[in-house]
Amino acid sequence: MAHGSGGLMSQNLIDQLFKKAMNNPYLDPMLDGAVLDLPPGRAVMSTDSFVITPLFFPGGDIGKLAVCGTVNDLVACGAEPLYLSNAFIIEEGFPLADLRKIVESMAATADRAGVKLVTGDTKVVEKGSADGLFINTSGIGVIPAGIDYRPNRLMPGDELIVTGPVGDHGLAILAQREGLRFATPAVSDCAPLHLLGRLMQEFGQDVKCMRDPTRGGLATVLNEIAGQANLGIRVIEELIPVSQIVQGACDMLGLDPLYMANEGKMVVFVKKGRGSAVLDVLRRSEEFANAAIIGEVLEQPAGMVLIETGLGAERILGILEGEHVPRIC
Ligand code: MG
Repeated sequence: MAHGSGGLMSQNLIDQLFKKAMNNPYLDPMLDGAVLDLPPGRAVMSTDSFVITPLFFPGGDIGKLAVCGTVNDLVACGAEPLYLSNAFIIEEGFPLADLRKIVESMAATADRAGVKLVTGDTKVVEKGSADGLFINTSGIGVIPAGIDYRPNRLMPGDELIVTGPVGDHGLAILAQREGLRFATPAVSDCAPLHLLGRLMQEFGQDVKCMRDPTRGGLATVLNEIAGQANLGIRVIEELIPVSQIVQGACDMLGLDPLYMANEGKMVVFVKKGRGSAVLDVLRRSEEFANAAIIGEVLEQPAGMVLIETGLGAERILGILEGEHVPRIC
């Protein structure tokens, strides 16, 4: 508890753990807030809280996830991610060694994504008042001139791309939590998408809208966008990339990969006729080698998503109802 008192033990924790891992010229002066330099352009701010369980999972941990989640939301808005804040709510008795691993993972992921962890907060609550550790990250980025990603820029005929196979994060968390073992282990796709952001900037206004299909998966995000754009979306089931392990496990467990969470994928809508050019650029990078055009925007049915199944039949792909896998991020 004393580590959260604001006194000497708090100071030691901050100096020996957080400051050491995150050091940069914005954090180091230790003011009440970070004083930031911003390049010209519109600024974007995004925030997210991470309550995932377990804290460590194949492909990542809560620290890596907390950086990727906020970085990817900034990228989805068209921003170059620049700065993150981080707030830790720690349960009394949480192992310091685990906290260190998580903080170091955050710092390494921030480094990789080119963002700086510039301000933070640490609170400790009594045993039982939190489940180990919760993290909140907020991020600031700047949108370069000529970039404008919004659902209401969509038009019928626009093409829909997903940057890789869906469902990996959801399955990895579920498998770890339920002790499920597969021949090939399920690994989260947790990754920062800053490079995707830069690749898409090259296409300027031809990229209409981006969103990361996290909680609720691809199906839920497409429904959100269809509703916001007041247009329809049609996806072709057999074009949607799903890994063998995810498909196999979902079939066995009665789950649908289109509703499983992702933490390193993006849905990208591009102007009609530009899909293959964007796809070529994506596939040239190993990270997006399995990107695919999976559908298009329709005039009708407004606000709804249709899925064309293998037999040529069409059905409504609804929004996620209830909880698929709780505390997934
Ligand atoms: Mg998002």
